[in-house]
Amino acid sequence: MVDIEVGDREFDAVVIGAGFAGLYMLHRLRGLGMSAVVLEQAAGVGGTWYWNRYPGARCDSESYYYCYSFDRELEQEWTWTERYPRQPEIKAYLDHVADRFDLRRDIRFSTEVTGARADADGRGWTVETGTGTGVTLHCRFLITAVGCLSAANVPDLPGLETFAGRWFHTGRWPHAGVDVTGRRVGVVGTGSTGIQAVPALAEDTAHLTVFQRTANYSIPARNGPLTEAQSRAYKADYRHIREVQAASTNGHPFVINQQSALEAGEQERTDAYRAAWERGGLRFRATYRDLLADEAANETASEFIRERIREIVRDPATAEKLLPRDHGFATKRPPIDTHYFETYNRDDVTLVDVRSDPIEAVVAEGLRLRSGVVHELDDLVFATGFDALTGPLLRLDPAGPDGTTLGEAWRAGPRTYLGLAVSGFPNLFTITGPFSPSVLTNMPSSIEQHVDWIAGCLEHLRDTGADRIEADPEAERAWGEHNREAADATLLPRAATSWYLGANVPGKPSVFMPYAGGFARYVTTCTDVAREGYRGFHTDGPRAAA
Ligand code: NAP
Repeated sequence: MVDIEVGDREFDAVVIGAGFAGLYMLHRLRGLGMSAVVLEQAAGVGGTWYWNRYPGARCDSESYYYCYSFDRELEQEWTWTERYPRQPEIKAYLDHVADRFDLRRDIRFSTEVTGARADADGRGWTVETGTGTGVTLHCRFLITAVGCLSAANVPDLPGLETFAGRWFHTGRWPHAGVDVTGRRVGVVGTGSTGIQAVPALAEDTAHLTVFQRTANYSIPARNGPLTEAQSRAYKADYRHIREVQAASTNGHPFVINQQSALEAGEQERTDAYRAAWERGGLRFRATYRDLLADEAANETASEFIRERIREIVRDPATAEKLLPRDHGFATKRPPIDTHYFETYNRDDVTLVDVRSDPIEAVVAEGLRLRSGVVHELDDLVFATGFDALTGPLLRLDPAGPDGTTLGEAWRAGPRTYLGLAVSGFPNLFTITGPFSPSVLTNMPSSIEQHVDWIAGCLEHLRDTGADRIEADPEAERAWGEHNREAADATLLPRAATSWYLGANVPGKPSVFMPYAGGFARYVTTCTDVAREGYRGFHTDGPRAAA
């Protein structure tokens, strides 16, 4: 518990969350001369990278660009050790950032926000925390930096409380670690997390059983140490790297090949996929321009990957179960892996298809399937993902000036203007909120862009004497419509089990949540909105021009 001094309860801004977004937001607010505090539920900085400590946890973006770009000295002084950073290294980087910019003195750790209510005039927020006797803070602007994938999704399986063993969700992994040596462990879920955790867990378990509902595509990561020469080269090239990221569809520093997969001859195409497979990583998506736009083009990549799975997995029946057939490559977030498919060649690893024979209940000994088969387990690991994008905001459930809560406003699904603001909730900014590119991009790129935009907006409000800003409902409606069109121009909404659509959470409205129109296009829109005097927002205040 952290004591907050009496008298230290009135701020220009309260930021919720001390991950990549909250840390940079605090830095920018200080630069504007605003008083600000960050409220963080965890005992340290890191956000996603504080909680996700499961075996094998590492980033799928490459380290040299999964980092901040706002400070050139920071870029030069930090040296990543591997192509893809492991969780402890990203956490160490964020600890370094917090220290380097002296951020900790304005972060209240172990402080859970339990309520947020707008003032009746919409010019401020009252924020309640669960610390000690329940401290109440007041601010003019409330900024959520709660992450897109922070609300853990534990399936509501009957009997979980009767399980005689231990159970864990990967997103809330115990900090002391979990010793699985010699134990029979079950992993539920084969998304990016499960695909990272399975090979790592298999190293130690006596037996690993993987419960797969939807088979997934995965590309080899080809991780390895970064040499000194590579680090030097990245550091020397940062300005160019940042330019490529800014002009990109996904905030990654690679350029999508502008050829159609269908224009290429069969051998040429196979060679291109083979080269991308050998290079490894998410860049596989950039092999052709229409992999996410045309089903026939997508199928060429999907089938190439199925072929590799058949090649790697020795048991044909297991290989067959691992072949994704109900969605195209990258229409769900594509994982990358280190020896994921190879792990099924081990005698001590079993794959169970729970699409055809679903998990019915947890029993004392393990998991019981609908057929009555019981898989005996000592430990159960839920790699079952998150209530993505809306979940973290709805768990805060702020209330607007008229008392309407976000949950009520979003009953039929989220609505936002630019993913940054919600009509009916003045002076609230949502970093990487729904209908912004967020999870379709390299997250630090989207985060920096949102934080910079919010900082620019706050400066504008100050300069124009305004103290209230609210998204216009019509601008919000039009943005929602544009989002639907942008998503429908791709194959992304066709993956029926995708968490992009909320399909992983029973009862969640089916809405395609991240903006699929591309990062560079989105940035241009946000810049234009600001340049045109914050088009689509209403601002006012005692000194504001009428
Ligand atoms: P996820 O992609 O939502 O995968 C969850 C898995 O659990 C899916 O296979 C899902 O099956 C399964 N599942 C959920 N409920 C189930 C149930 N009741 N019974 C059986 N299976 C169930 O979650 P995630 O793997 O944690 O990844 C979420 C996102 O986090 C990623 O897509 C990525 O954006 C991010 N992430 C990033 C990294 C990284 O950069 N290193 C690592 C991990 C995660 P269905 O597919 O059938 O729903």
